[in-house]
Amino acid sequence: MQHITILGSTGSIGVSTLDVVARHPDRYSIYALTAQNKVEELAQQCARFRPKVAVVGSAAAAQKLQELLRIQGLSTQVEYGETALCAVASANECDAVMAAIVGAAGLAPTLAAARAGKKVLLANKEALVMSGQLLMDAVAANGSTLMPIDSEHNAIFQCLPDGYGRVPAQHGIAKILLTASGGPFLKRPVETLEHVTCEEAVAHPKWVMGRKISVDSATMMNKGLEVIEAHWLFGVPAAAIDVVIHPQSVVHSMVSYVDGSVLAQLGNPDMRTPIAHALAYPERIDSGVEAIDLVKIAQLTFEQPDLQRFPCLKLAYDALHAGGSTPAVMNAANEVAVQAFLDRRIGFRMIDRLIARVMDAMPSCAVDDIESVCEQDRRARVLANSYIQP
Ligand code: NDP
Repeated sequence: MQHITILGSTGSIGVSTLDVVARHPDRYSIYALTAQNKVEELAQQCARFRPKVAVVGSAAAAQKLQELLRIQGLSTQVEYGETALCAVASANECDAVMAAIVGAAGLAPTLAAARAGKKVLLANKEALVMSGQLLMDAVAANGSTLMPIDSEHNAIFQCLPDGYGRVPAQHGIAKILLTASGGPFLKRPVETLEHVTCEEAVAHPKWVMGRKISVDSATMMNKGLEVIEAHWLFGVPAAAIDVVIHPQSVVHSMVSYVDGSVLAQLGNPDMRTPIAHALAYPERIDSGVEAIDLVKIAQLTFEQPDLQRFPCLKLAYDALHAGGSTPAVMNAANEVAVQAFLDRRIGFRMIDRLIARVMDAMPSCAVDDIESVCEQDRRARVLANSYIQP
């Protein structure tokens, strides 16, 4: 029996993880569930999955949750705040941690899980973008296992040889080909992007996801974050990571080998597949996802991304080249810009302009510990906010 903590259980990845877990009560039990504000949803999850601990974002939310659990006669221990998140991610009673908090808020508990030697199922790509070296070092030093949940990185993992040790040349790996759907604005005239609405930006054509990652997909910053994520997970330089637009979202990514072979992983766009893969690896378990019908799909197409249309993708490559603090700065500026866009305080095209401005103003510096990463993150947020008109 594996005991699991789900960080961000009320989100899109959290709910999909619980769906897979519920199919295998003989294999998995829930140690802890966490949410920020969605107390009612968390209470319902507690009633169904009976975790030992539930964590929320504030004292007020904790009080509300406690009351809801009391009415249902549940004895789940209720905690709140970052220290409690780190505690449930590193507790002795927990074997595996699904890191599915959105944004920089996921960094501390994800790092705590790695330092405690847990199996970390990593959905929270922002943690790796902010502090790739620190997180990979923590994984290596503490015997932790990092399993990619992002469908692209999970696909790459599946296309790499067993025991791949992050040294591409030793395994004849020439390139990583990251596929991208292109999001909702792939064909929309570029000059009209200035005026897109939040509703249009979060309406992803293929995937149902949280609001932040949906906007990231519309700007293709999501793919940029994934380029950086692939660099850290697989030890591949930026020059050997290509992004390929594939609107059908059937091929989830590919690995190109020096002998001319290209290995791909295919499947329906449903996050339960990579979640089930990562949970059960090296075994395979039912995820609830149907196999694809290639005859029905009929056509798989591929094209190059247009960097005029998707400047955020170029910004991410620039950040990876700059190294040091720049990926964390870019990530922080992006989080501020996306939130401002969702709050209707800035237009869609202001997202990339704001990020570029913050990156220009904050030259790369070394970040050797978590405190310096967080300080750069904080400074970038202050700067980004100062560029937004009140
Ligand atoms: P959602 O917005 O749907 O869910 C986010 C979860 O994190 C919720 O449980 C939310 O709680 C919680 N949360 C939000 N802010 C905080 C905070 N400050 N502190 C603690 N918890 C917080 O996001 P997704 O599930 O879409 O994405 C989660 C992560 O997975 C992201 O990093 C994303 O990039 C990555 N990912 C997502 C994919 C997807 O298909 N959705 C695919 C690949 C990667 P509450 O509900 O109470 O607000």
